[in-house]
Amino acid sequence: MKPKPLHLRRLFRSLSLRRCRLSSPFSSQTHVTQPTKPQKPFFRSPENNESVDHFCQQKRLKDAVQSLEKQVHRPSASLYAAVLQLCIEKRALDEGKRVHSHIKGSGFAPGVFISNKILDLYCKCESISDARKLFDEMGDRDVCSWNTLISGYAKMGRVSEARKLFDEMPKRDNFSWTAMISGYVKHKSPADALELYRLMQRNSNFACNKFTISSALAASAAIQSLRLGKEIHAHITRMGLDSDAVVWSALLDVYGKCGSLNEAKYIFDRTVGNDIVSWTTMIDRYFGDGKWEEGLSLFSDFLSSGIKPNEFTFAGVLNACAHQTAEELGRQVHGLMMRIGFDPSSFAASALVHMYTKCGSVERANRVFNWLPKPDLVSYTSLINGYAQNGQPHEALKLFDSLVKSGNKLDHVTFVGVLSACTHAGLVDKGLEYFYSITEKHGLSHTSDHYACVVDLLSRSGRFKEAEDIIKKMPMKPDKFLWASLLGGCRIHGNYELAERAAEALFQIEPENAATYVTLANIYATAGKWGEVANVRKLMDEKGVVKKPGMSWINIKKKVHVFLVGDQSHLKSREIFDFLGEVSKRMKEEGYVPHTDYVLHDVEEEQKEQNLFYHSEKLAVAFGVISTPEGSSIKVFKNLRTCVDCHSAIKFISSIVERKIIIRDSSRFHCFESGKCSCGDYW
Ligand code: ZN
Ligand code: ZN
Repeated sequence: MKPKPLHLRRLFRSLSLRRCRLSSPFSSQTHVTQPTKPQKPFFRSPENNESVDHFCQQKRLKDAVQSLEKQVHRPSASLYAAVLQLCIEKRALDEGKRVHSHIKGSGFAPGVFISNKILDLYCKCESISDARKLFDEMGDRDVCSWNTLISGYAKMGRVSEARKLFDEMPKRDNFSWTAMISGYVKHKSPADALELYRLMQRNSNFACNKFTISSALAASAAIQSLRLGKEIHAHITRMGLDSDAVVWSALLDVYGKCGSLNEAKYIFDRTVGNDIVSWTTMIDRYFGDGKWEEGLSLFSDFLSSGIKPNEFTFAGVLNACAHQTAEELGRQVHGLMMRIGFDPSSFAASALVHMYTKCGSVERANRVFNWLPKPDLVSYTSLINGYAQNGQPHEALKLFDSLVKSGNKLDHVTFVGVLSACTHAGLVDKGLEYFYSITEKHGLSHTSDHYACVVDLLSRSGRFKEAEDIIKKMPMKPDKFLWASLLGGCRIHGNYELAERAAEALFQIEPENAATYVTLANIYATAGKWGEVANVRKLMDEKGVVKKPGMSWINIKKKVHVFLVGDQSHLKSREIFDFLGEVSKRMKEEGYVPHTDYVLHDVEEEQKEQNLFYHSEKLAVAFGVISTPEGSSIKVFKNLRTCVDCHSAIKFISSIVERKIIIRDSSRFHCFESGKCSCGDYW
């Protein structure tokens, strides 16, 4: 199963380098402003195999530095340069500092070239205070020294310090402008970037190059200014940069981000030899815009173009599959990734875990997860959430423990999964412990999602007083998810007084949501308050609240089949209804009683239909059973919450046809097997 990692890493390295260059103009430019690298070192030690030079050639940095420190004669400038270059390549701050202090101790007066190298090392290793100290001590500075420090500050996000240097520097070159502009872009100050870009254009001493242009385009994309993008586009044409791939993909990005997909596609189609970045950008734009079909068809064009997809392409497609719950396609992409190989520590790997959990295939997600050498936070969080949603809360909590041990830094999203796992497992006190640990132990702050989760946890187990206390103390305004959780808890425990308040708050936030009215009506019905039930229904009519029709769909052989309640429009409709007729006889023999008491369980509009047996999820399940081989599992999606009757019926069906049936409704996954559901009848 394992891909060939060596060949792969090389592939990804070269691809990611290319992407690097697109966003960071420094790497390729620094060499231009620096003097050419000295050739062979002049100094040779008698025992050649032990020499510093030899170790440098072998890239054995530790040995090289050690040998340098032992050396009796003063090393030459070129030898220092070679060791420092290796330190830069390896981002080895400690060794670099040792070389620096060796230089100081040996009485060697470093020229601006050597000093710039040390400066570059400190900046690349993000040791900016060391860099600044050296810069201030340097008697002789050239434009490269200034540029290096400016890039260093910009890279750390300290753009105002970078700008101060930029304004102070005696002489600027193209690189200084570009470093500053792209620094602004990278650290989310697109307006400053564009202002500087205009200033540069007005100054005839400097010419924009493709890196400046790409940064300016990225800034326009960030503020989604189509006007600016078009202006720069005209500028590009005047400068004759039309054929540059870096510029083109930046241009593509502007049009894509500004929603001008047609213009983006126009550019894309007219670019000879689109590179991987342009392909990936264009495909992602379609997905980002909800144009699933177009994105996929471009992806398949891309596959036939002969360019190898990289982790960005894979991640984009997998995230789209997750969003569309298109597991079959996701699996094909997975297969392709295995064939051409991918880096198991890249984010394409975590996108794979995410895709499988979103599609409800926790087992597959778990298999990929276990295969990863070092799963990242995204993979952990996806799988924890997957377990929590799929009725395996204890697995979720176990995984959380190993996440804590793994040393990955946690974020607030992880705790949403952990808290909902506790809710599903009914572990109220443990859940509260996790809730308080977010701030006390992990130094994060509570988000509104955390509050919604903890209110869900408490109210589902009837601890309304505590839930209300927490709501009173929370620092932000409770959102609709929190109120909906509270309302849900009230439904379970028949607490109509509190339900009224929760519903009132929800009416304020989203007056058009039918689910609130229906839930409130149900709570009144359970309490026998029929007058209030009628009032709620009247209120709905007055406000013109329209209920969403229930709808279920299933993927069979790459085709999506959608069913509405009582739907007879499907080609196989006859077979479906025949099957349901047959199976209902068997179900009744085995003890199934239809929940005809639909006022109580009227979760959504659908159930008001006379015949419970033709609810959309039952039709989709029936179609799944008759169109797939015996023993294979069936997965159905529903836009609303599944109703009590369907839930009970599908339990029976799963044991009669001996199939695993998965229903993903609007609130969670239900995994039916041998007459039981993974949610434990708790949803
Ligand atoms: Zn139903
Ligand atoms: Zn269930």
